[in-house]
Amino acid sequence: MASRAAAFGAPTPDGIAAKRSRCTSTPSSREGPGGCYTRGAVPLSGLRTQIRSIARQRCPRCHEGRVFRSLLDMNETCPACGRRFEREPGFFVGAMYVSYALAIPVYLACVGVLRLLLRGWSEPAILALAVPIFVPLAPLLFRYSRVIWMHLDRAVDRGE
Ligand SMILES: [Zn+2]
Repeated sequence: MASRAAAFGAPTPDGIAAKRSRCTSTPSSREGPGGCYTRGAVPLSGLRTQIRSIARQRCPRCHEGRVFRSLLDMNETCPACGRRFEREPGFFVGAMYVSYALAIPVYLACVGVLRLLLRGWSEPAILALAVPIFVPLAPLLFRYSRVIWMHLDRAVDRGE
């Protein structure tokens, strides 16, 4: 019976033991769909986990590894699960659409706050003054647009 299960690809006790042995490099690691995960990682997740992972700018697969290693430099692969972030050449071109979708409301919010604070100022002056307030937020928008794009891609294609 056990050999029949093995013939059909069912996990055998030996196979399970072999999988577990790959994840014993650290005491807190465990097996997940994409490999070993450290403690706190959630391989399969709900919307709340996705949102928290995006807010913390973490890997779309394991929700643990940091996407960025500095302000603008991304890690090529997830430090926790090894997922390659740029799945193919030009992958992040789609993040530009996310960037537009984020930048327009942020810029309009800057304009709205300035309108409230600077009553009586002309509209062109407020629009111009909003630009230097908006520009320092560009790195933040860059980071979040890429992270959101990766999470959207992951939501559509869970095969990777
Ligand atoms: Zn990861």
